[in-house]
Amino acid sequence: MENTQKWSPTDLNAPHELLAQLRAWALELGFSQIGVADIDLSQAETSMLSWLAQGFHGEMTYMARHGTKRSRPAELVAGTVRIITARMNYLPKSTSNTNPTNLSSKNDWQAIEWQRLSNPQQATVSLYARGRDYHKVMRSRLQKLAEKLSAVVGPLGFRVFTDSAPVLEVELAAKSGLGWRGKHTLALSREVGSMFFLGEIYINLPLPTTEPVSTHCGSCSACIEICPTRAILGPHTLDARRCISYLTIEASGPIPRELRSLIGNRIYGCDDCQLICPWNKYAQRSNLPDFDVREPLNNPSLLTLWGWTEMSFLRNTEGSAIRRIGFERWQRNLAVALGNALRSVQPAEDHLVMRNALRQRHPTASALVREHIEWALESVA
Ligand code: SF4
Ligand code: SF4
Repeated sequence: MENTQKWSPTDLNAPHELLAQLRAWALELGFSQIGVADIDLSQAETSMLSWLAQGFHGEMTYMARHGTKRSRPAELVAGTVRIITARMNYLPKSTSNTNPTNLSSKNDWQAIEWQRLSNPQQATVSLYARGRDYHKVMRSRLQKLAEKLSAVVGPLGFRVFTDSAPVLEVELAAKSGLGWRGKHTLALSREVGSMFFLGEIYINLPLPTTEPVSTHCGSCSACIEICPTRAILGPHTLDARRCISYLTIEASGPIPRELRSLIGNRIYGCDDCQLICPWNKYAQRSNLPDFDVREPLNNPSLLTLWGWTEMSFLRNTEGSAIRRIGFERWQRNLAVALGNALRSVQPAEDHLVMRNALRQRHPTASALVREHIEWALESVA
């Protein structure tokens, strides 16, 4: 039965009980862990401003637009004194064997992903995007969590966010102990690696904060070294303009020619810096069916996806985060991947099929896609 007793901030014992209750609700709602952060992000503000000043955010001007509202939560949502942080594991249930004691197994999910990346004619979509759009999943559950809290404490000022530009998500996650900021700039935990989404609830209730955890990257720099486009300039510094996730999802125009061959068969996002991370041997599968891999994205070939019309793109990506990039960027990304496949596969028949498929689309494609088709065909006899 719902506890209808109202909590009072003057009661010194109740806040911890309330936090325990909040954790229990969060687990029921499918979250993997929650924390509570205070709103002092002054240390992160300096790095954020310097990152923006160097232009590393590229076309993501919305990041700069909010100014210090990003690092001063009470400027974004008046009255905020705490932020409930939440993480949700997203590895699809079907992901093979995440048992860290059986790493040599061919079923190891990281090995399967590396294999997919090494097959030039196969399409690679970032793991987080193979199921339902996580924004929808996270947002509705954060809202429910806040409403449950409000039902107990009385009128509560709150606002929920997930993957939202005005929020310094990784900093808040780190502050509240969900993990530390890895050298690849993502939140990372010793218990579960980094394959999780983040969300936040800004509240005007002084809940007790949870402690940060220590960092455990040590002397490792595997993510920096593996990055195909050298987008991680050094520990904790990402030039988004070189990052394949940015290039295939956020960037609306042409992909810089010098980076195209480095993209390989990645058509939506990139997981390499997470795949190589030693802590991801502990990554957990989601217990929500929402993140199950959707059939059209279960091991598709580049040619199958290239054959989609705009109608089939819209139908096959309904409810998926992929739909947000639109058909033009989707085709642009596929043209780049097909160009890379043409440069790396041998059998002449495969070449012919791919070249014909690209040529067939050329006359009706937009100027942006046409230019990428031309690049794909250009150095192929
Ligand atoms: S997502 Fe890919 S391109 Fe971006 S930093 Fe990580 S490894 Fe590099
Ligand atoms: S790969 Fe190594 S350096 Fe990079 S985040 Fe993981 S532990 Fe840290």
